[in-house]
Amino acid sequence: MDTASQKTGLFATWRNLFLWKQIVIALVLGVIVGILLNATGNEAIASTIKYIGTLFLSLIKMLIVPLIFVSLVCGMTSVSDMARMGRIGLKSVAFYLCTTAFAITIGLALGALFQPGVGIDMGTATAMEPKTAPPFIEQLIAIVPTNPIAAAADGKVLQIIFFAIMFGLSINLVGDAGKPIRDFFESLNTVVLKLTEIVISFAPYGVFALMAWVAGTYGLDLLLPLGTIIAALYIGCILHAIFVYGGLVTVLGRLNPVRFFQGIVEPQIVAFTSTSSSGTLPVTMTAVQKNLGVDRSVASFTLPLGATINMDGTAMYQGVAALFVAQAFGVDLGMSEYITIILTATLASIGTAGVPGAGLVMLSLVLTSVGLPLEGVAIIAGIDRILDMARTSLNVTGDCACTVLIAKSEDQIDMEVYDTPHVLETPKVTEA
Ligand code: ASP
Repeated sequence: MDTASQKTGLFATWRNLFLWKQIVIALVLGVIVGILLNATGNEAIASTIKYIGTLFLSLIKMLIVPLIFVSLVCGMTSVSDMARMGRIGLKSVAFYLCTTAFAITIGLALGALFQPGVGIDMGTATAMEPKTAPPFIEQLIAIVPTNPIAAAADGKVLQIIFFAIMFGLSINLVGDAGKPIRDFFESLNTVVLKLTEIVISFAPYGVFALMAWVAGTYGLDLLLPLGTIIAALYIGCILHAIFVYGGLVTVLGRLNPVRFFQGIVEPQIVAFTSTSSSGTLPVTMTAVQKNLGVDRSVASFTLPLGATINMDGTAMYQGVAALFVAQAFGVDLGMSEYITIILTATLASIGTAGVPGAGLVMLSLVLTSVGLPLEGVAIIAGIDRILDMARTSLNVTGDCACTVLIAKSEDQIDMEVYDTPHVLETPKVTEA
């Protein structure tokens, strides 16, 4: 075989791979390239590669507002039963809250077991300004946008959800007079989904670039001293995903957990590399509908809501990190402090935006609630990206688990699609 046809062969094999396999390969290659660049003192190249990742992230972020709005309006107009929408809302909030409290408990248990803060040198730490949460009632009122266009421009997800629900509801209420606009939104939805598919096909390149940048910038030397906190969080996230979500999907949903995890590989990896659950939304929405057969009326509501308020990974991280800081500063925590941490971390995780590093900012709230020194935040900040990758991936996994369970309980899941391995694939290349 000559070089040209070898190249075509390799290219065709790559194009014929399922998208999720391309993404996994890209992730592994990115780590290898990043570590090599770091070891050879070529961090600058890693920073340059990052531009490709940033470009990919901008492309998916570009889709967030149109995708949430259009699919939620279509979701609303495709359900005639309004009581069902209310039920879905209640079930999602209950699921999100319960699993979050669980996650922090696992975080605290692992923090106590691994003792990540013992023996950490606090010498270089400087104090941080604590973050204060706005009163709950103000946060609730703020969900109603005074200007929907401004809400869209600022990417305020809860406000967009609120407006889309009211808008969709009104289309339903006007009956036949609303038909042209309903058809218009259906058509717009098809176009937005096509655009999403095109953008997602670039995921492997974005994932590769972001991984090469992270591994190239951090390198192994920086990571080893804080290895225990990283290990504690990663193990916690894996346990929570397998036992809590996998368990609920199997027992409550009576669904095959292997298919569940297989169906959400793409959003998990995009979340892992982008560290933004809101940014991953277009990928998450596409995966649960196309790979797992969840109906749009459920996914278009539970996923944007979950990306905003459901952060089990973040909550677990706050549990582990609080114990890390307590141990590093030699502070003993009692039962009442543990309970305070569980409560504040649950609230803090709800208030955390689904964007990179938001959990670190909210950590100051948790530390303040039990009187722990805020200098601890500075130490964790050095490796926060690595921790953010795991927690964001778990955040997105939780949103998917909730969506699949609710869809099952409402009979809004196409079991034939759920049980069939991946349909979300890259176009096949036919060789001449
Ligand atoms: N990056 C996380 C997310 O987008 C939030 C956090 O920083 O914990 O889900």
